[in-house]
Amino acid sequence: MTHIAVLGSTNMDLVAFVAKAPQHGETVTGREFRTIPGGKGANQAVAAARAGATVSMIGAVGNDSFGTRLRSTLEHSGVETDHLRTTEGSSGTAHIVVDDEGGNAIVVIPAANGTVDHLAPGDEGLIASADALLLQLEIPLAAVLAGAEAARAHGVRTVLTPAPAQPLPLELLNATDLLLPNEHEATTLTGRTDPGAAALALLEEVPEVVVTLGAAGSLYAARGAEPIVVPAPQVTAVDTTGAGDTFAGTLAVALTEGRPMPDALAWAAAAAALSVQRAGASESMPYRSEIEAQYTS
Ligand code: AMP
Repeated sequence: MTHIAVLGSTNMDLVAFVAKAPQHGETVTGREFRTIPGGKGANQAVAAARAGATVSMIGAVGNDSFGTRLRSTLEHSGVETDHLRTTEGSSGTAHIVVDDEGGNAIVVIPAANGTVDHLAPGDEGLIASADALLLQLEIPLAAVLAGAEAARAHGVRTVLTPAPAQPLPLELLNATDLLLPNEHEATTLTGRTDPGAAALALLEEVPEVVVTLGAAGSLYAARGAEPIVVPAPQVTAVDTTGAGDTFAGTLAVALTEGRPMPDALAWAAAAAALSVQRAGASESMPYRSEIEAQYTS
C-alpha cells in the first residue's frame, strides 16, 4: 500500500433541510436536521483510505463532541489520526441551509481548523515518509505553504486542490507538483473561463494541472505535452457533494501506485462517478473493490 498524508480541514456539517430558505429577519420551520462529518481535508483522506492507501491526517479538531465524532469517523474509514491535534475550543463547523430547489447557503466557522497555521513537531517527518501530500485551502495558507515546502524538500509529490477558490501566492504554486482545480477555481486563479486556456496559464507556475469538468470528466495539461481530456462515466447523479474530494483522494492513490496519468484520471473518474450516484459526501465514497469493478467495466 502507498502512504498518503493529508494536511487540511475537518468540519462538522450542520445541515438544515427546508422547503424555502428564510429571508433576512424571517424564521421558517425546516423539515430535517443532519450532522455530517466533512471538511475537504477529511473527505480527501477518507476517499484515499477507502481506495486502498495508508492515509495519515494532519490537522485539528476541537475538544468538543464534534471533535470526538470527527476523529472516530476518520478512524472508522482507516485514516490514521496521530497527527490530528485536539485543541481547546470548538471543532470547525459548516452551517448549511439546503432548500427544495437544491440551492444552499453556508456559513463556515473554521474554529480548530484556524489553529492549523504551522506544522507541529513531527508533521514534517510524517510528510517526508509519505508518497504524496494532499492539500486544500480550508486551513490557514501559512500551513499549506509550510506543508508544500516540507514535501518539496523531501521529494514528496504535492497535490493541491485550490478550494475554496481564491488567488494564491506564487510561492505556493511554485511548491505544488499537481494543481487540481475545478472549472470555477481555475477561472478564479487565471481569469480565463475556458478550462484549456486556464490550464495552460497555470502551467507557467506548476508543472502539471488537472481541471475537473464535472460530468464532462477532467482535462490534464503538463509542460511540453498536448492537453488531454479524460471523460467521466455517464451516470445519473443524485448528489455531487464530495465528488471533487473523491476525485482528488483516489487520483493520489492511483498516481502513487504508479499508474500513468491517463489511467489514473480514468480510475479517479470511476470513483467519483460512483460517489455522485449516492447521497452524502464521505459516506458516498467508494471502496477499492467498487472502483475496480467500475473501472474495468
Ligand atoms: P467537479 O468538482 O464538479 O468538477 O467534479 C469532480 C469530478 O467528479 C469530475 O471530474 C468527474 O469525474 C466527477 N463527476 C462530477 N459530476 C459528475 C457527474 N454528473 N457524472 C459523472 N461524474 C461526475
